[in-house]
Amino acid sequence: MAEKGLTLTTDLGSNIPNIQFDKDKITQVVTNLVVNAIKFTEKGSITIKTSSTGNIVKLEVRDTGIGIKETDMPKLFQKFSQLDRGLERKTGGSGLGLVISKNIIDKHGGKIGAESVCGEGSTFYFILPIEERRNRQ
Ligand code: ADP
Repeated sequence: MAEKGLTLTTDLGSNIPNIQFDKDKITQVVTNLVVNAIKFTEKGSITIKTSSTGNIVKLEVRDTGIGIKETDMPKLFQKFSQLDRGLERKTGGSGLGLVISKNIIDKHGGKIGAESVCGEGSTFYFILPIEERRNRQ
């Protein structure tokens, strides 16, 4: 990151409620998203943002990297799908990180997704539900 001169910004919401999750697994997902953001960004910034609305908590990793073509978006969370742009071969990787991440988020009852403008950057995000506490008598 230092070699590329990228800046890392965090924008952590102040009203994030405590939720139950598997710390190791969610750390694995966040790591995967941040490592990808760094891997596919040559200049600019990576922003990690957390927020909470209604009954969900959302984490976003935004980058100013190469972006993803609209036609490639549906392939992102599929097995061994490295988008064929040459950079993947250069940067290595298994093409499995996002599949594993989706699996983990699915198991938490959440949702993972991405938005991108090709050539401008990508935002990968996941949401986790805030479980309603049952009244214990
Ligand atoms: P890999 O180990 O190849 O990074 P992933 O499943 O994590 O596997 O990612 C699959 C593919 O999705 C990557 O090879 C790349 O083509 C694309 N991709 C993932 N994150 C980004 C990003 N932040 N910007 C652009 N492309 C991305």
